[in-house]
Amino acid sequence: MLDRDYNDDGADGKGGEGPRAGSSAPARAAMGDLDLLPAFFALRGRRVLLAGGSEAASWKAELLQAAGAEVLALAPHPCAALERLARLRPDRLRLARRALRAEDIDGAALVVADCATLDAALALQALARARGVPLNVIDKPAASDFQFGAIVERSPLVVAVSTAGASPILGQALRGRIEALLPQPIRAWAQAAKAFRAPLKALDLGPKLRRRFWELFNDGAFSGRPPRENEFDALIGAARAGETEARRGSVALVGAGPGDPELITLKALRMLQGADAILYDDLVAPAILDMGRREAEKIPVGKRGYRPSCKQDAIVAQMIRLAREGKRVVRLKGGDPMIFGRAAEEIAALRAAGVPVEVVAGVTAALGAAAALQVSLTERRRARRTQFVTAHAHDGRLPDDMDWRALADPGASSVVYMGARMAGALREKLLGAGADPATPVMIVERATCPDERRMGATIDALPERAAALAPDGPCLILIGAPFGEAAAGAGAAQAAEAAAAQV
Ligand code: SAH
Repeated sequence: MLDRDYNDDGADGKGGEGPRAGSSAPARAAMGDLDLLPAFFALRGRRVLLAGGSEAASWKAELLQAAGAEVLALAPHPCAALERLARLRPDRLRLARRALRAEDIDGAALVVADCATLDAALALQALARARGVPLNVIDKPAASDFQFGAIVERSPLVVAVSTAGASPILGQALRGRIEALLPQPIRAWAQAAKAFRAPLKALDLGPKLRRRFWELFNDGAFSGRPPRENEFDALIGAARAGETEARRGSVALVGAGPGDPELITLKALRMLQGADAILYDDLVAPAILDMGRREAEKIPVGKRGYRPSCKQDAIVAQMIRLAREGKRVVRLKGGDPMIFGRAAEEIAALRAAGVPVEVVAGVTAALGAAAALQVSLTERRRARRTQFVTAHAHDGRLPDDMDWRALADPGASSVVYMGARMAGALREKLLGAGADPATPVMIVERATCPDERRMGATIDALPERAAALAPDGPCLILIGAPFGEAAAGAGAAQAAEAAAAQV
């Protein structure tokens, strides 16, 4: 039997690039109605008729040329762009300065036209249909037998998006998102796949090895690296060595950003979509988790301070166990994994266990909050440096080795993580180190989330303001001159609110 899953020449009549048709695949739900049939035309060397001399017609001419068609462009008054295309590739576009005649259509593979009116388009459709030639009229779906999609071009890999005319703008937006998702070197991989087909066939490996080859190929194609010089031989070697059966698991520590799902990185998204298991903190928004591969096992390992917690050792042990089962494990952490995330311990333990580790940076909460407040942490005249500190030591109290002088420095901005419950102690230590009591402070809870809350304060008023905000979500305390306007604004807004509440 043919190995249908990886047979995209459709030789078994069922292969195609569509949903997998292997015998072990679950029964497929009946397909809903399609407005249009997505299909890809082979036009190399075929004659295509293009009627119209507009700019829009010239874009279609370019596309048809790129697909290898021999375009006959009929236009009494061609635009400059169309004339240029005829000059540059005369073998792919011949320009005739006249209107279309019915007999031009005979023998053409396709007709593409730009018609001024719907009536003219419908008349042309009748002519083309009588001759059995499919027609597209630009921007007139009612008179068209086929439509062009918005395309992502990584030839030989092409993604085409259609909304069946419902919203071309939506199609283009979707195209943009797909573009962003594709690993940079995907074209090189698609070209390699094309080059690999013949030598692979010649090796006559049998369906099982061939399938393994393409699975390993896919791992490479989505790894973000370009294919190696000796990729084919390396893949054959790996397939023969049975690497898929005993696939080496791995762990990636991935930053999920501060909360807004749009603030995760493209790389994080790609890792989530390739994960077999996702261990996530309780800071991670459900919308981000939803971006993960549907089949991935999703395991909560929240251990926020003051809550019943999953022990760190247990988390590490679980990651090692999953990786040893050959799983691609994503350890999804709020913000950036390397900022107050105990990443060093996890990396050391994973390395000691021989598990390959990777780290994907994320936007740390401080940077999310600075963006939300539109305050520069290193504003030129007010802060020569910025510092991130944690107010939470192992024992849940203020760390006793903090450099309070550095935090009291009027030329620095500081962001205190995990400090909301330490406001009183923070104030005493800062004032004790000589900080100006009037130094501006911003308290921001759930920065970048839809339910973000802010409170303006000064070092002096910090405990009272923190108590007034009474945060129950993750919260930062941002201290320093750059927060002056933000704190005054937020303070004023709250004063007004409080006054209104008293009326
Ligand atoms: N690795 C994370 C920090 C983990 S420590 C990062 O880079 O952001 C957890 C602390 O981060 C919380 O107690 C809180 O102080 C802060 N934090 C995380 N997300 C936050 C958010 N959206 N708004 C405010 N503070 C946040």
